[in-house]
Amino acid sequence: MKYIKNNKIIITIMSALILAILVVLITMNTDQQVNLSYNEFLDKVEQNLVGEVITSDAQDIKVKLNGEEDITYIVPNPRSEDFKEFLLINGVKVVESETSSQIQLIQAILFIGLFLGIFYFVYKQMGQNQQGNKMKMDFKAINASSITFEDIAGNVEAKESVKDIIDFLIKPEKYAKYGARMPRGVIFYGPPGTGKTLMAKAIAGEADVPFFSVSGSDFVQMYVGVGASRIRELFKKAREHGKAVIFIDEIDALGKKRTAGAAGGNDERDQTLNALLTEMSGFRDSEGIVVIAATNRLDILDSALLRPGRFDRQVEIGLPDIKARESILSLHIRNKPLSEQINLEKLAKQTVYFSGAMLENLLNEAAIFAAKDGSRFIEMNHIDKAFYTVVAGAEKQDRSMIDEHDRHITAYHEAGHALMTKLVAPRNSVTKVTIIPSAKGAGGFSMNIPPDKMYYSKKDMKSQVMISLAGRAAEEIIFGEDEITTGASNDIEKATSIISDYVHKYGMSEKLGLLNMKLLNQGSESNAVAECRVLMNELYHDTRELLIENKYYLTNLAKALLEKETLSEDDIEMILAGEELINTEQMDFSDADDFRQTELNGELI
Ligand code: ATP
Repeated sequence: MKYIKNNKIIITIMSALILAILVVLITMNTDQQVNLSYNEFLDKVEQNLVGEVITSDAQDIKVKLNGEEDITYIVPNPRSEDFKEFLLINGVKVVESETSSQIQLIQAILFIGLFLGIFYFVYKQMGQNQQGNKMKMDFKAINASSITFEDIAGNVEAKESVKDIIDFLIKPEKYAKYGARMPRGVIFYGPPGTGKTLMAKAIAGEADVPFFSVSGSDFVQMYVGVGASRIRELFKKAREHGKAVIFIDEIDALGKKRTAGAAGGNDERDQTLNALLTEMSGFRDSEGIVVIAATNRLDILDSALLRPGRFDRQVEIGLPDIKARESILSLHIRNKPLSEQINLEKLAKQTVYFSGAMLENLLNEAAIFAAKDGSRFIEMNHIDKAFYTVVAGAEKQDRSMIDEHDRHITAYHEAGHALMTKLVAPRNSVTKVTIIPSAKGAGGFSMNIPPDKMYYSKKDMKSQVMISLAGRAAEEIIFGEDEITTGASNDIEKATSIISDYVHKYGMSEKLGLLNMKLLNQGSESNAVAECRVLMNELYHDTRELLIENKYYLTNLAKALLEKETLSEDDIEMILAGEELINTEQMDFSDADDFRQTELNGELI
């Protein structure tokens, strides 16, 4: 096929070249050319030396002398009316050639023809390539029958809300009989790695129908119309199988809300989206095809997608809670030799905000560490190492270049976070503190995990800010105001985000009251910023005070970190044990107000 295509190109180029050479040859005179003045020419006529004159309306005429046929004399054209008669009287043969403007015209036509020919050829080739691209998207059905609901741990509500879809896929006539229209499309939304793809596969598996998996970005192409034709191709393929689940990951690539700036739209995206909606509305009610789309954010989707008859069922697939985490861990440990020492319930507790994919990754990394060690079982130290890899990226192997002073700063910074957590949020666990830098650039980290709960209080928010600020405060206390470092940038970002929500979103600021500042105009916005600053300064002051009062523990923690590099929760407890800590009860925290959990998370600090 490719061979034939190459031959075609060669033939076209050769033909174009031959044509071009012909054009040149036709219009080119190969004789030797010599200029002759008009008077000399008249003399030669009178002497009967001129054999032939080729006239035209060009600037010059061509003259052949008797006996000198291979020389063409070029003489200025007199353009007089009786010139031809004069020549004939003198016995000269007169040949009236095409005028030079006619030749030019022919040249121009040939040239344009050649150009158009080449252009047409290139255009056709492009069209064929484009067609080729369209064809290249080979939609293949996957047999997902081996994946069932058994492979999904947790996600109980989501499973429940798609059960009827499976039933519909198995027996579409049952619903048609009642005139029930099944949802044409389902959207799974939720954070990455929570099992949206897995759930879609399990639906296909449970119903034992083919599974087509594509990504929204596969359809957004440079050429207008390609995406739409791919969509039609996909649905055609699915229909050939009768029943099917079509899964479109990253639907936002196709169906993002149009922003004001992008008014006028993106033709290609719009056409693709319209093709999708048209295909979906073209289903017969008894047809066994379900379209499932996935996105991380429902709120950024164009409302056209969510209208009835389109993706009218939206199912949230959220992060797993503690019970779900435990069952996900048990599920993925099935084929792994886990040491009996490892308590999955405890591990589930320590992995707040881990998605299913992260949990699976954690166990997989731990298994790799165990295999590398040649250990019989996956032990806690393998899980510990894997924890670091999953959360912070691989440990930096070459630590020889780390400056001793930097190690000290990191040790006090991380000790500050850990100590503050124990002081202001004793229900949080500090599962691990380390000064081992990660390959991603973190100097070290403290894994601070808040208890798994629905709401956080005003006090929790303030505590979280203080925990974030404690790294910077510790640096300042130990090394002095001028020695504070850039290591706190993430902490400041996090603290600012919490304070901003505290004031703007949750109406927790006593001064600004119960208002959503984001809905108000700019004028009050500056008050809100000032209030954020006041609150942040107060909390930083409290953090510093508390650390100064507990400097003894701060130093002990930092020293232990410098020595051991990594401390577990038990190590921390031991260092803090024995002596009475100055706790938060002395601080002025107001009563708790509830707010949604999602805003606070147990990230690295
Ligand atoms: P993304 O939004 O990034 O596309 P996703 O939500 O589609 O992610 P999946 O690709 O389905 O997530 O999940 C990745 C892997 O994580 C799964 O193959 C599975 O191993 C594991 N996993 C996620 N959630 C669960 C769960 N609830 N039970 C068991 N395993 C899970």
